[in-house]
Amino acid sequence: MTAVSEARVAPPDVAAGRINLLGLDRAGLEAFFAARGERGFRAAQLLQWVHQRGVTDFAAMSDLSKSLRARLAEECLVRAPEPMAERVSADGTHKWLMRLDDGNAVETVFIPEPERATLCISSQVGCSLNCRFCSTARQGFNRNLTAAEIVGQVWSARRRLAQLDPPRRLSNVVLMGMGEPLLNFANVVPALRLLVEDLAYGLSKRRVTLSTAGLVPMIDALRDACDVSLAVSLHAPDDALRDALVPLNRKYPIAVLLDACRRYVAGRPHRRVTFEYVMLDGVNDSATHARALARLLRDIPAKVNLIPFNPFPDAGYRCSPPPVIDAFRAILTAAGLVTVTRTTRGDDIDAACGQLVGRVRDRTRRSRGTAIPVAEYSR
Ligand code: SAH
Repeated sequence: MTAVSEARVAPPDVAAGRINLLGLDRAGLEAFFAARGERGFRAAQLLQWVHQRGVTDFAAMSDLSKSLRARLAEECLVRAPEPMAERVSADGTHKWLMRLDDGNAVETVFIPEPERATLCISSQVGCSLNCRFCSTARQGFNRNLTAAEIVGQVWSARRRLAQLDPPRRLSNVVLMGMGEPLLNFANVVPALRLLVEDLAYGLSKRRVTLSTAGLVPMIDALRDACDVSLAVSLHAPDDALRDALVPLNRKYPIAVLLDACRRYVAGRPHRRVTFEYVMLDGVNDSATHARALARLLRDIPAKVNLIPFNPFPDAGYRCSPPPVIDAFRAILTAAGLVTVTRTTRGDDIDAACGQLVGRVRDRTRRSRGTAIPVAEYSR
């Protein structure tokens, strides 16, 4: 028991006894400076140095007093996960294996499109949810990421993208990588706040999306803490099927989950919940399933993303054939639901939805050791 509860806690954001300022949001930094007798505007200065200019060396932060710079250098550091390996897909998708301080590594994916450029980041080392069709689940679970490790993926990716020819910028961030972000609420929230903070990454809430398998109480908590765009991994229109595919459904069944979705957008006229639906051949892809799904969502401001299933070794599922996906989408569209089929990106480098594995020192004994060796990244 102890091992499990310990595993759920991220290590404190300290290295060699120093505080990692990368993970403190504006309020956190203000409290940090107040506790040291410094004025609140120091937080604004620090945010800009670290997140906008990418500076980690306190000595270079020229608008801070000399004595403050010296003190910060003694007590703090700014450290992001480092890309230890990179793979680039034929379609321009990049995937990085990001090294963490304890020997684990998570994956971060950059997906360029004509109209936007999205970074998909991880929130946990592995995942504890065990959704049947997801390869991250097979890796088992080690721990939560710290806030610095979550936002640090954005920090590191931005730095790397700026070096490309031509340089690329991020327009969107999605928490759709490894892990269940709402099981790491305490660390995810400061990271989200930094993403939407004008003095840090300055993204609008529309352009930051958190995807959850449906942790109902935390959906409500997210609404109050930082109401970014919400995506829900639904994958089935009835409880019997969803229980089998997404075991979390046994705790928070569909009706309860959809109520939380209604509350999430209530009173916010232009907001919609995105429902993700992985297309599994012969499992959840019939016309009956489509009609049931349309009925379920008819009174929710919703948008549906159909995700062609991405295979991995021993998955035990196949992707629905394209005509089946088209027919499924046509039924939803005819029922008035905005429905798109997500284009599979980066599957040649195992960077597509459900294919991220990282390097997880499993503490659940679920892993069968399928982590991709680093050498494979450098092909
Ligand atoms: N735990 C969160 C965040 C992960 S997001 C969640 O469940 O929403 C990753 C998305 O990819 C989820 O919608 C997930 O259900 C989906 N997915 C997982 N495995 C997949 C696979 N093999 N093929 C396609 N999509 C998959």
